Amino acid sequence: MMKRRRITANLVLVSILAFALAAPSFASVTPAGQTQRFPWAPELPCNLNPARPQGLHPGALQAMQMIGVAHRITQAMNNTSARRNVHQTDGTLNGHAYSGAVDISVRCLTAAQIKMLLSRLADVGFAAWYRKDGQDDWSGPPHIHAVWAGCNLKPVLQRQVESWIDGRNGLGGDQPYQFWQATTAMKDKVRTLYRMFN
Ligand SMILES: [Zn+2]
Repeated sequence: MMKRRRITANLVLVSILAFALAAPSFASVTPAGQTQRFPWAPELPCNLNPARPQGLHPGALQAMQMIGVAHRITQAMNNTSARRNVHQTDGTLNGHAYSGAVDISVRCLTAAQIKMLLSRLADVGFAAWYRKDGQDDWSGPPHIHAVWAGCNLKPVLQRQVESWIDGRNGLGGDQPYQFWQATTAMKDKVRTLYRMFN
């Protein structure tokens, strides 16, 4: 048991390191040499609720911290039986239940900035969609729904990641995603990580 746990932990670490090395730099540098922060950075003024990362897979949380978006988590694991909820437990790591699904606040962000965030999330291993009321078969409050590919996922989230890799919206009708499309390189990264664990 202990050995298997250690192997799992090592796999998580290896996958995070691989993505850290492969991902583009997480902040661009201006000609003046000043680091430009991402528009969702915690330093920028935006009246957000306190983050709620409880139950998120630790590798997913670290990946979100790498791109400065962890403070925007509105929901991770949620074991209620509400209709359309896909945030239930995916598995256990070192005796702790985890979910690979996470919701992210888009407050204070423009559509272009949300697309940029979807790209950076893909760089660190997330299949992510912007859910906006009335768009892409979604009704409900606006947010980003993201699934971390770097852990074992339950079947409904496996279907979502595969849908994302296929350029689709991950919802019931599985239609092509209209708001944004990942590049082939982004899809390759997420697929490679996904297949390590699923
Ligand atoms: Zn969600």
